[in-house]
Amino acid sequence: TQPLVQVENLKMHFPIKGGLLGKTVGSVKAVDGISFSIKKGETLGLVGESGCGKSTTGRMILRLLEPSDGTIYFEGKDITKLSTNEMRKTRSEMQMVFQDPFASLNPRHTIGKILEEPLIVHGVKDRRERKQRVQELLEVVGLSSYHASRYPHQFSGGQRQRIGIARALAINPKLIIADEPVSALDVSIQSQVLNLLQDLQKEYGLTYLFIAHDLGVVRHISDRVGVMYLGQLVEISESEDLYRNPLHPYTQALLSAVPIPDVTYKQERVILQGDVPSPVNPPKGCPFHTRCPKAMEQCSNIRPILKELEQGHHVACHLYD
Ligand code: SF4
Ligand code: MG
Repeated sequence: TQPLVQVENLKMHFPIKGGLLGKTVGSVKAVDGISFSIKKGETLGLVGESGCGKSTTGRMILRLLEPSDGTIYFEGKDITKLSTNEMRKTRSEMQMVFQDPFASLNPRHTIGKILEEPLIVHGVKDRRERKQRVQELLEVVGLSSYHASRYPHQFSGGQRQRIGIARALAINPKLIIADEPVSALDVSIQSQVLNLLQDLQKEYGLTYLFIAHDLGVVRHISDRVGVMYLGQLVEISESEDLYRNPLHPYTQALLSAVPIPDVTYKQERVILQGDVPSPVNPPKGCPFHTRCPKAMEQCSNIRPILKELEQGHHVACHLYD
């Protein structure tokens, strides 16, 4: 069956200008040719250190950022070439949940007003109908109708994220891109918000792209997980396979660094040397070769391509050539 989202060779390169004539002297390769799909009703976790291009990828899918190359299909339709007008309908089917719910909520508006806004934008003209929908949304995310008259500062971090989720749900989207939705929350609150997202997914048949910097957070919620490094997708597979049998040395290092309950994969802790290189003119060959404990000669020259090694388990690494 047709995936809900499919991206092919997606790129985001920002040119860097320099010198007196403002010539292009290089580029920031924030996202450098990634391809993956998201099936209807599934959660794809997208993991990597900050700056690896995962948020940029999410924003390009929503077309909040224009890709510099590549194609994005939504329900089989290429949305990269749609005009703003044509994009309007598709955009209402995709919503974003942000990391910092406070920053994304207008502090001077009541929650009722904040939740009414997307309804107005999408043409719900009847005021009573909007009020009704706001009540519904509050209940759906585990808040109460009296919360509608309160302001964002009167809520805890977890409650604000519930409001962010309610706002994303207001106009019945199909896809939700959640960019580190629990990273700013206390661990005890994180699992409540993750459970809420899972319940909502079942109830409304939602599809999620769930972005996180930590493999621990996405484990429970993801059907599949993709790992990004320096703008490239280095491994993607069914969640269970990835945690049981990580193939890419970077994924192995990430998994060895965090204790994740019930993960059978165990290895000596791999401490990665150095920092992630700059995405400005990134290393040739494998993007990970400057830090990889298993790097070989060809790794610094030839970029490994993502290949399916076992069913549904893709990896980009010369160890498996
Ligand atoms: Fe390491 Fe080479 Fe594999 Fe890159 S291609 S992850 S440098 S072994
Ligand atoms: Mg980010």
